[in-house]
Amino acid sequence: MAERLAAQYGQRVLLVDRRSHIAGNAYDEYNADGILIHRYGPHIFHTNAQRVVDYLSRFTAWRPYRHRVLASVDGMLVPVPINLTTLNRLYSLDLSPEEAEAFLAARAEPIANVRTSEDVVVGKVGRELYEKFFRGYTRKQWGMDPSELDRSVTSRVPVRTTAEDGYFNDEFQCMPLEGYTRMFEKMLAHPNIKVMLNTDFKEIRAEVSFRKLIYTGPIDEYFDHCLGKLPYRSLAFRHETLDQERFQSLAVVNYPSEDVRHTRITEYKYLTGQQHAKTSITYEYPSDEGDPYYPIPRPANAELFKRYEALAEAHPEVTFAGRLGSYRYYNMDQVVAQALSLVERIAEREALKQSA
Ligand code: UDP
Repeated sequence: MAERLAAQYGQRVLLVDRRSHIAGNAYDEYNADGILIHRYGPHIFHTNAQRVVDYLSRFTAWRPYRHRVLASVDGMLVPVPINLTTLNRLYSLDLSPEEAEAFLAARAEPIANVRTSEDVVVGKVGRELYEKFFRGYTRKQWGMDPSELDRSVTSRVPVRTTAEDGYFNDEFQCMPLEGYTRMFEKMLAHPNIKVMLNTDFKEIRAEVSFRKLIYTGPIDEYFDHCLGKLPYRSLAFRHETLDQERFQSLAVVNYPSEDVRHTRITEYKYLTGQQHAKTSITYEYPSDEGDPYYPIPRPANAELFKRYEALAEAHPEVTFAGRLGSYRYYNMDQVVAQALSLVERIAEREALKQSA
């Protein structure tokens, strides 16, 4: 939004971040050993939105990367999303896609009204596969049972009866060639944009005059939690660099079992294509404490958010954006699409003139 407002509409923008760096949770950096890692866990870009690709392509070239994931289940590493290979490996079978479909249909439980994240999966693959792949992972990730979460959460992960093993269905899957931080640096390299780091905007809001505020922090925090706290889930990361060239066979391995505390391990060299004698990996430990990373999709939270949204309507000089401002489990491409739309809306409302 800063880039569009500055470059397209000639606005002067002050970008304020509490953290010591730009790029939010997409921030990546070279660690002490010179390996490019994602400080806030794996960010993999995927989209079907051409306008999002076109926009970001102004600031980065791309490295083609097709994301695949394995899950550690019953002492084996099998593809997730569950697919034909998963079923054949797990049950020592040799099913065809049609037989796999019948296999799942025989196990799927009919659910009249699919409401929760448990319903979605049990309705497609039955209870046993649900427990092996989803229940433990979700309980660790969200600190609650899938039956307490909206269907949208586990619906992010498809189920397939072919050997197709991509994690995402999206057409465009790529990583920014020189990393996310570099891409954002280029976006912000406009003379009308000033960046102020290590600053909570509340520290300076009384001292700067502005026409318009775009707030991408938690919406409830903006309003001093006056209607109560919106819940967010956080993550703790254990970053390690190992004195070996490879650690695992692909970028991400999921650990759905509740016997271990981490949900997944990411090995960055697969994402970045970097060659290095060592390798860096990250364990993710979900947590209630720490920076807010995930809004928690469930009806009570959606309702509280709506009340904050109603408050926000009384403050048209503020635009709330992003995962935290919108309290939506957005992917990166959705955030970019939202940003582009919001700028257009602001430009129209404020009758901003195009400068370029
Ligand atoms: N999930 C799961 N088992 C898996 C992968 C995902 O139970 O092996 C569930 C879990 O609830 C997770 C959600 O599906 O939070 C969405 O997964 P995704 O990989 O999209 O999570 P993200 O990368 O956004 O953390």
